[in-house]
Parts: sequence; structure tokens; C-alpha cells
Amino acid sequence: MQIQYINEMLDIPELQVRQIRSMVADELHIEAIPRSYKQCCPLCKSDQNVIRKGSNGMRMVRHLLVFAKKTFLHVPSIRLSCTTCEAGFGWFYEFVGPKQRYSWFFCFNTVEQALGSTAAHSARMQQLPASTVQRMHNEALLVECERIEKHVWTEAKEMSNLVLGVDDFAIQKGHTYNTGIHNLKGETMLDLLPGQKLNDLRAYANTHPDFLLLNPKAVVMDLAQAYHTWISECFPQAIRIADRFHVHGYVIDSVQEV
Ligand SMILES: [Zn+2]
Repeated sequence: MQIQYINEMLDIPELQVRQIRSMVADELHIEAIPRSYKQCCPLCKSDQNVIRKGSNGMRMVRHLLVFAKKTFLHVPSIRLSCTTCEAGFGWFYEFVGPKQRYSWFFCFNTVEQALGSTAAHSARMQQLPASTVQRMHNEALLVECERIEKHVWTEAKEMSNLVLGVDDFAIQKGHTYNTGIHNLKGETMLDLLPGQKLNDLRAYANTHPDFLLLNPKAVVMDLAQAYHTWISECFPQAIRIADRFHVHGYVIDSVQEV
């Protein structure tokens, strides 16, 4: 197979395939080099006075399957130096994290597979130790949480006619309660804060400036006084709505008594 097709199949624009090192049994080893000759210095952000200073050998990076074979990319660990800053630095590859042995594509793929089943299953499919899959999964989870959090807060801040929901839920029924803050129209959870007492709620608002930047038209909650006081302090303009679930509960209780 021609090198150019392998280039296209890999779909890593920063790399130029040099040669197939070996293709034995279930493994494929491909050697590639960066397409560009130099990179910008991380300090002055310019490549004007950056020079190459050889390489620290080759890095071997596991990538997605090619021809149903475990594929490894061999890329040089190029050393660069900026004569302006007198700083040395290593070549930065976009397709793989620094010092990582698995490409980003490979990690995403493995994590996705584990989400649809289990880490053990993904580990078998990718022929990896389960602990490696677990680690990739945990790392991906952190990044994903951050991304979602940023997204839902931006959405809530920009939403006209925002309707919030605040409600407590038991970590330990009868003992420990936390409070959830939701964007009801957007159907997202914005945050969880420890506690349900007025002090806990005020402490949260004091330490989360983003919360006070919200501009809800209405806030839905149960009939607990602490929530009503807190919300009227934070969002005096917002209509406070007692949610149907709780009102319904009170009505049923009263009817039972009668
Ligand atoms: Zn520099």
C-alpha cells in the first residue's frame, strides 16, 4: 500500500508517514515525522530564532486500529532551542499528550467503548490492561465534567426567561441533605451545594459569583422558609413558585386529616 493512502487513513494532519517499519502478526508499526520543520518557542511564542537540536530518539505511540491491527506510530522526540530566550524545549505533538503512550484518538475511542459496556470489556477489545482503561476513563471524565459545567452555566446565563429549580435531596435520609440547583427549561443541573440551611445557602451565594450573575424570571422550590428567604435575597425580581409535587403533598395530607 502506498504511503499517501496510509497518510489519509491515519488522518493526523501534522504527521507525514515515512515508512512502514513492520507489519507482523497483529501489529503494525508506522514511522512518521512532523510536516513542519520547527515550532514556536513556548516563551516568546515566535519561531524566528528557534533551531533544531537533534532528537532524543523515537517515541512509540499506540493509535487506532489499522487493517484490524494494533497500530503503533513511531515519531521522533525532536529537541528545539530558542536562541532569543536561551530555552530548550521538546517537539509538541497535537495527536498525543506530552509523555503519553496513547494517542488522543485512541484514548477517546477506548473511553467511548468502556462507556457503552465496561472497562473490562474495552480492555479486552483493545488488548490493554483494565487499569489503563480505568485511568483513561477517569481522566476523560474530569475533562468532560469541566466541559459540561462550562456549557450549562453559559447557557443559563444567556437564557432569557430562565427558570431555576432548587430542591434538597438526602445523602442520608433524615440526616444529611444537599441542595441541587437546576435550569428547569434547559433541563440541566447547574450545581450541588452541601447543606440546605439558610447559612449553607448564603455561604454558597457568597463564594459563587456566577450564581448571582444569573437572572431568573422564576425559581421553583418547595415550601421551606430557608429557600424562600435565600432566593428573595439573591433574586428579588424573580417570582417564587411552590412546586406542584410539594403543594400536592400538603393538600393530600390535609384531606387525610379531614
Ligand atoms: Zn523564545
